[in-house]
Amino acid sequence: MSWKEILKVDNVVFEPDNPNTAWYDPQKDEITLNLSSVGSEGEDDEFVIMNLEQIAVHENAHRAVKYVMGDAFKKLLDRLGESVANALNGETEESGSELHDLLDALIKMLSMDEAYAYSTGGTVQRKPQVNLMESVHGALIEPLGILHQGIMEDVQRQAGNNPMALFIHIPRINKLFAIMEAHILKEAATAEAAVIDFVSDMNNFTEEEKNEYVERYMRKIQNMLG
Ligand SMILES: [Zn+2]
Repeated sequence: MSWKEILKVDNVVFEPDNPNTAWYDPQKDEITLNLSSVGSEGEDDEFVIMNLEQIAVHENAHRAVKYVMGDAFKKLLDRLGESVANALNGETEESGSELHDLLDALIKMLSMDEAYAYSTGGTVQRKPQVNLMESVHGALIEPLGILHQGIMEDVQRQAGNNPMALFIHIPRINKLFAIMEAHILKEAATAEAAVIDFVSDMNNFTEEEKNEYVERYMRKIQNMLG
């Protein structure tokens, strides 16, 4: 048996500049483990092995969720694209609230996925690093960015002989995407706090341990606010 088979991962890399320990890519259906961030000096082998086990369990939990929920997530993402187009065309009066509901449904799905993965991994490691905001960024903000770019290109092409139209449409498009991004980040931050709370309860943290555990989250929020 190889390393990868023992760990149930698809790729093993060594990327010291990458802060991520492991990730699951639902498009490729591959789990990658970054060995450079697993175990540091002074940690005993038993701890490192437990850490690896937790990571493998966590990422495989994502894979299991993807098999069950992947299609539903993709459908919602497609509907979000349609809803953005409707909102920009001003087609339906309720397109604004539909957009809002779709975003919330997508964020809830991602949060559930992550909460589940941490609850399985948390049984092995006492203080798993919660990266829900990062997951939401990759799964929602990145595809929205591609959509944003596509819409801008379309509008520019169509406005070819009517440059005035650009002055009206471009700020509206940018504003809609900025509002969506802010909303996603806010909801993801709330969801990450809930997962941290859940893990703290599950592992019976003392007040002190919980304060320590929350610190990393607070730092990320501060960085996000710039
Ligand atoms: Zn995860």
